[in-house]
Amino acid sequence: MQDKQYLMIPGPTPVPPTVTAAISMPIIGHRTENFAQMHEQIVKKVQKVFQTKNDVFVITNTGTGALETAIANTVSPGDKVLSLITGNFGERFANIAKAYNGEVIEVNFGYGNDVDLNVVKEKLAEHPDVKVVLATQNETSTGVCNDIEGIGALVAKTPAVLLVDGVSGVGGIEIKVDEWGVDMLCTASQKAFMLPPGLAMVSVSDKAWEVSKKNKSPRFYFSLPAFKKVYDKWNTAYTPSVSLFYGLDASLDMMLAEGMDNVYKRHAILARATRAAVKALGLKLLAEDRCASNVLTAVWGPENIGADDLRKIIKKNYGVTFAGGQGPIKGKAFRIAHMGFCDKMDVIIAVSALEMGLAQAGYPVEMGVGVKAAQEVFLGR
Ligand SMILES: *Cc1c(COP(=O)(O)O)cnc(C)c1O
Repeated sequence: MQDKQYLMIPGPTPVPPTVTAAISMPIIGHRTENFAQMHEQIVKKVQKVFQTKNDVFVITNTGTGALETAIANTVSPGDKVLSLITGNFGERFANIAKAYNGEVIEVNFGYGNDVDLNVVKEKLAEHPDVKVVLATQNETSTGVCNDIEGIGALVAKTPAVLLVDGVSGVGGIEIKVDEWGVDMLCTASQKAFMLPPGLAMVSVSDKAWEVSKKNKSPRFYFSLPAFKKVYDKWNTAYTPSVSLFYGLDASLDMMLAEGMDNVYKRHAILARATRAAVKALGLKLLAEDRCASNVLTAVWGPENIGADDLRKIIKKNYGVTFAGGQGPIKGKAFRIAHMGFCDKMDVIIAVSALEMGLAQAGYPVEMGVGVKAAQEVFLGR
């Protein structure tokens, strides 16, 4: 059936009906009291999710726009940037810093690994003149979650600012911006926030504001001082995506009504069930349990069966979409997202489709083994 689709990719993710309804409300002018009130409420709710008192800007952009906002306002030409890379998105963050003529020191921990704090410590000691540190909370290309708290504690002891790509993690995996010393946290609407693509969110600490004021990089659409000029009036520098603001207000209400602790627990159990199912089917996970992401699971395709061929079979026959591998693991791995508007039965559907797809691709699999493993996790057995 054409309209019955199960979208299980790490963005865009399914949008709840409540949010869709909010998005379809009549447009209002953005220089109005009504918009200002909604904007203020949204920022206060995002601050709760971020666990911060810092300024939070909701910008009409995608996640990459949030990352560019962070770089454009903190990296001056020639500045030393320490880039902690655990996959494709870490590489992208480093590339943005290079585009702004930062002198980027890339530390690549390899696909499937997380950031090693000892290495971070060494690199910061070796380069005391590092101005900016880039880290990824949840590396979407590999399904690895990094220790932002640990990285934050190390960077806080230096004059450098810590910029965190939390595009796929925030809203599904806890992050404590103030307590952990995250100077700028970047995220976007279309992943754990359960919205269509088009909005980004960025928080700015006092330390980051100081750096931003002295920054020499050219910036216009991404200029934090331009955002700040109208922030106190709950205005936006340019025309915001009014409809998505309505949607964000609704999705934040949903998240806060569930309770953020419950949201994080839900994602954790979905991840555990997915990993248990994959292991039960005899497939290999990219990330070790220790650093495995709670919002998506990356899986190596079975030997002699292309991961993309398997994905095609599953999409065509069952309407379930998994994401492919990126970069060096393209065609070799696939990724099952369980982020945002996702619950236990979505995982059961995903695993059940995976079993049938594997069988059709010629992989020896006993039906129900993966589903059972997931069910056992849900039953707490
Ligand atoms: C999706 C994603 C991005 C890119 O966001 P866009 O909205 O596509 O610009 C950046 N970083 C991470 C970790 C992501 O998952």
